[in-house]
Amino acid sequence: MRKGPEDYFILEIITTGPDPQTAIPLEAAALRLSGGEEAESLSVLADPGVPVSACLLERSGRSEEDFRQGLTPAEALSAICQFMRGGAALAHDAAEMESVLLERFRATHAGPLLDTRELAWLAAPYLRDHSLHSLAASLLGETPTWKALDDARLLLRILARLSEAWKENPARTRRAILGALDEAQSPWLSFLGKGGGHPLFPDLAELIPSLDRGKPFPSGASARDEGAGLDEVKVNPEEVSSLLGPRGPLAALRPDHEGRPQQAAMAEAVASAMNDAAFLVVEAGTGIGKSLAYLAPGVLHCAAGKGPLLVSTYTRHLQEQLFHRDLPLLARALGSLDYCLLKGRNNYLCLRKWSEWCRSLREGNPTLEFGETPSSLSYAFLASWISRTTSGDLEEIPLLLHLRLQGLIGALASGHEDCLRPHCRMQSRCWVERARRLAASSQVVVINHALLLSQAWVAESAPGNAVLPDFRLLVVDEAHHLEDVATEALTLSVSLRDCLKSLEETVGPRGILARCGRLSLDQEGMNMISEAHRESEEAAHEVEELFFERVRP
Ligand code: SF4
Repeated sequence: MRKGPEDYFILEIITTGPDPQTAIPLEAAALRLSGGEEAESLSVLADPGVPVSACLLERSGRSEEDFRQGLTPAEALSAICQFMRGGAALAHDAAEMESVLLERFRATHAGPLLDTRELAWLAAPYLRDHSLHSLAASLLGETPTWKALDDARLLLRILARLSEAWKENPARTRRAILGALDEAQSPWLSFLGKGGGHPLFPDLAELIPSLDRGKPFPSGASARDEGAGLDEVKVNPEEVSSLLGPRGPLAALRPDHEGRPQQAAMAEAVASAMNDAAFLVVEAGTGIGKSLAYLAPGVLHCAAGKGPLLVSTYTRHLQEQLFHRDLPLLARALGSLDYCLLKGRNNYLCLRKWSEWCRSLREGNPTLEFGETPSSLSYAFLASWISRTTSGDLEEIPLLLHLRLQGLIGALASGHEDCLRPHCRMQSRCWVERARRLAASSQVVVINHALLLSQAWVAESAPGNAVLPDFRLLVVDEAHHLEDVATEALTLSVSLRDCLKSLEETVGPRGILARCGRLSLDQEGMNMISEAHRESEEAAHEVEELFFERVRP
C-alpha cells in the first residue's frame, strides 16, 4: 500500500472571469482537513487592480471597497500556498483554473494539486454533469456563494456526499477500482480505501444482468409472419381527432394543449396513409404540432397491433423532445405505450472488447493506449461507469471524461465489422443485443437518420448484425436532411491510416495474432495462425500497392 500525503487542503480561488489565462484572483481560501473534517482555515481577499463585475459583487455580497483593501493577487496566492505548506491541495477543475493561476502569479505550491472532478467521476459516474455548480445542486440542493471560504466548505460537504455515493457501489466494483488506483499510484486511493490484495482489472461482467435466453431476438421474417393480416387493420380518423382534440385526453393532461386545424388535417392525412400502407410527404410549418400529428395516428395503429412505428429524426434535440415529452404524454393519455430510443451500435460498449482489454491489463501488456491518462486510471473510471449503467450507452459517460478517454472509448465501442455475434462469449450480456431486444419489443422506436440509412447496407452485407427491428410504419421527420445523411452513410471511405491500423491490430506485436500465438494451441490451431499471418502479409502488400502505385496524391 502506498502512503498518501500528510495533509489535505481544500483550495478555492474566486477570479474576475472564467478564462484561467486572463482571470485575476479576487479571493482565495484553503481548509486544512483532519479526519475528513475542517481543522483550520485561511481566507484572503485580493485587489485585482481592475473593476469587479457587478454580477460578482451582487452574488458575493461584497463591495469594490472590500477588494481594494486586499493584498495583491500574487501575495494572496503566496499566502495560501504557505498555509498549505506542501500538503495535497484538492480543487474542483484544478488543472483548468487553480494550477494555471498559481503558475501565472508565481505562487509555489510544493504538494500535489488534485482535481476533485476525478473523484466525482469515480464515485458518482451516473451524474450527467460533474461541475461544482451541478454537484452542489444535485447532491446537496445548494448553490455556490462566490465567496471563497464558503465555497471551499461547500466542496467539503460535496466530498462527504461523494464518499457516501462511493460506498453505494457494489463491493466488487470498489475492490476493482481500488486495485486499479493502486496500480496507477493514484492519490485518490488513500481517499477511497486501502491498496493491496484487490483483484486486478476484472471485467466485472458478472455485475451485468444476463439477457433472458428464452426470448430470442425476433428475425424480420418471424415478425412479418406474426403480423400477417395486419394490413387489414384500420384506425378510424375520428379516433385520432378525439385523441388530439380540445376535449380529448391529451388536452386533459396538458392545459396548454389546443386544437389546431393544421395539426388535425395532417393527423388525418397520416392516419389515411397508414391505413392504406401508402407513402405520404408532408411539409408542415413551424408550430403546428407536427410530431403529435404523426405520433397520434402512429400510436393508435400500434395499439391496434400494427406496429412497431419507427420515427427517424436528424437532430438530437427532436429525439429528446419525442422521447422525454411527446411519447410519455401519449403513454399517459393511452394508459400504456412501450417506446424506446435506439442508437447505432457504435454508441454501445462492446463487452468482448472491454473484457479483452481488461485481460491485456492483467497481463501487463495493454493493447489500447491513448492520451496521457494511464491505462489503470482509465480502467478505474470506466469500471465505475460500467457497474452503474443500465444501457451500456457510451454517451452516458460524462462529457469531459468522454473527451479525456476519447480514443479508448472509440476503440471499445461495438462495430458491425468486428462483432462476433452469434459466436461471441459475451452475447448473453451484450449491450447492443439488449438494445435490439428492447427495440424489438417496443411499439415506438425513435432513431436517427444515420442509423436508418446505415442499416440499409448492413441488412445486405451482414443481416445478423442489423440493429433495427422489422417495422411496418416509418416516419422520417426533418426529412430535408435525409439526402445529406444518405450521401454520408452510403459512402465508403478507405484511408491508408485505417488500413495500417487494422493491420497493426491484426499482425502488430500486440495484435490479435501475436496474442493467439502465445496460447497453447494444437497443430491445427498453429496452422490457422500461420495461414492468417500469410494472408495478412498479402493484404499489407495489396494496401501498399493500392495507395502508393494506383492511388496517386
Ligand atoms: S455480441 Fe458483438 S457487440 Fe456484443 S459483446 Fe459480442 S462482439 Fe461485442
